[in-house]
Amino acid sequence: MKRPIPFLELASMHADLSDELIRKFADVLKNGVFSAGEEVNLLESQMTGYLKIPHAVACANGTDALELALRALEIGPGDEVIVPALTWVSTAEVVRIVGAQVVFADVDASGLLDAGLMDNLVTSRTKAVVPVHLYGKMVDMRRLMSWAKERDIWVVEDAAQALGAFQKGISAGCYGDIGCYSFYPTKNLGAMGEAGMVVTSEEKWSHQLQLLRNHGQTQRDEHETVGRNSRIDTLQAAFLNVKWPYFQSWQAKRKRLASIYMQELEHVHGLRIPQGINQEDHNAHLFTVQCDKRDFLKTYLENKGIGTAIHYPRALPDTSAFWQVGDFPMARRICQTTLSLPLHPYLKEQEVSRVCAAIRDFMALYY
Ligand SMILES: *Cc1c(COP(=O)(O)O)cnc(C)c1O
Repeated sequence: MKRPIPFLELASMHADLSDELIRKFADVLKNGVFSAGEEVNLLESQMTGYLKIPHAVACANGTDALELALRALEIGPGDEVIVPALTWVSTAEVVRIVGAQVVFADVDASGLLDAGLMDNLVTSRTKAVVPVHLYGKMVDMRRLMSWAKERDIWVVEDAAQALGAFQKGISAGCYGDIGCYSFYPTKNLGAMGEAGMVVTSEEKWSHQLQLLRNHGQTQRDEHETVGRNSRIDTLQAAFLNVKWPYFQSWQAKRKRLASIYMQELEHVHGLRIPQGINQEDHNAHLFTVQCDKRDFLKTYLENKGIGTAIHYPRALPDTSAFWQVGDFPMARRICQTTLSLPLHPYLKEQEVSRVCAAIRDFMALYY
C-alpha cells in the first residue's frame, strides 16, 4: 500500500523548524522569563501590525479569548447571546460560563450565521451575537454589523479558525466590537500547546481585557476587578514568534492545494465542494465536502489510508450539554453530510490528487 495520508501531520511541520524552535526554547530557558515579557509583547505587536487593529491581548487559549470578550462587554445573567447551532463547542460554552443564555441560530448552506435567519431570535435581552468564521470562511460581516448596530447588539467574532482571512481588506476578527483567535496546534497558526488572543479597536475594552486575563490587576496586588488567570505562556508566545514568519507561505500553500482539490472535484456528481475557498475571505483552514453517503465515503477513504475528519458530527442544540428544542435543519444536514479532507502546508500536491482520485472512484461506484 502507498504511504498513508493522515488528516493532519503536525510533526512534519515542526521537524522542519526544530532547530529554530529548540534554539528559542534554550533562549527562554536562559532568560528565565516564563510569564509576560518581551516575547508576549512581540507577539501582540506583530498581530496588531498584521491585523491593522490598535489592540491585541494575548491569552491562554481561544476559549478564554471568547470568555474574556463577553466579560469585558459585561454580559452575564439575564442576557441572551445568539450563537450558530453549528460550531466548535467553545462558542456556546463561554456564554453559559458567564451566566448568560445561549440562543442558537441555524446556519446557511456553508455553515455560517445568516443575518436573515436571526430576526425572530432577538428579544429585549439580546446583548450580543457571536459569528463564527467556520472552516475559515468569513460570515458576511458588513451585513451582520449593520444588522447588529441597528439593534444595539454587540458583535464578538469567533475568528478561531479564520486567521489570514480578510473581507474587503479587513481581517476576520476586526469587524466586530471584539475579535477572538485561537493558536491551538491544529489551527493555521498553532502554538506548541495552548494559546489565544483577543483584539479590539477600543482602548477601554483593551484595558478591561488586560485586567481580566490577569486577576484584575492594574499593578501587582492592586485588584481593580475580579479577573482570572488567563495569561499566555511566554514559551508559547516565543514559539509562535518563531512560526510567524512562515505563516504567509503556509497560507499560500494551503490555497494552492485547495485549488487542486477544486479543479479535481469540480464536476463530481453527488459531491458539493466549498464555495469561495480561494477568495480572500477564506483562509483555507479546512477543505470540507458534502455528500449524502458521507459515512461510507469516510470509511472508503480510511481503507485507502486517507484520514478525514468531521466538523462537526452534531449540532450543539442536539448535545446533552446544550439541549434545546428547535429547528436547525441546515446545521443538522451539514452535520450528517460534511467531511473534512486533508489540508495542511506539508501535504504534497500528488497526495491531494490521490485523495481526489479515491473520491472520484467512490462516487463513480455509488452515484
Ligand atoms: C478552536 C476553536 C475555538 C477554541 O479555541 P481553543 O484555543 O481550543 O480554546 C473556539 N471556536 C472555534 C470555532 C474553534 O475552532
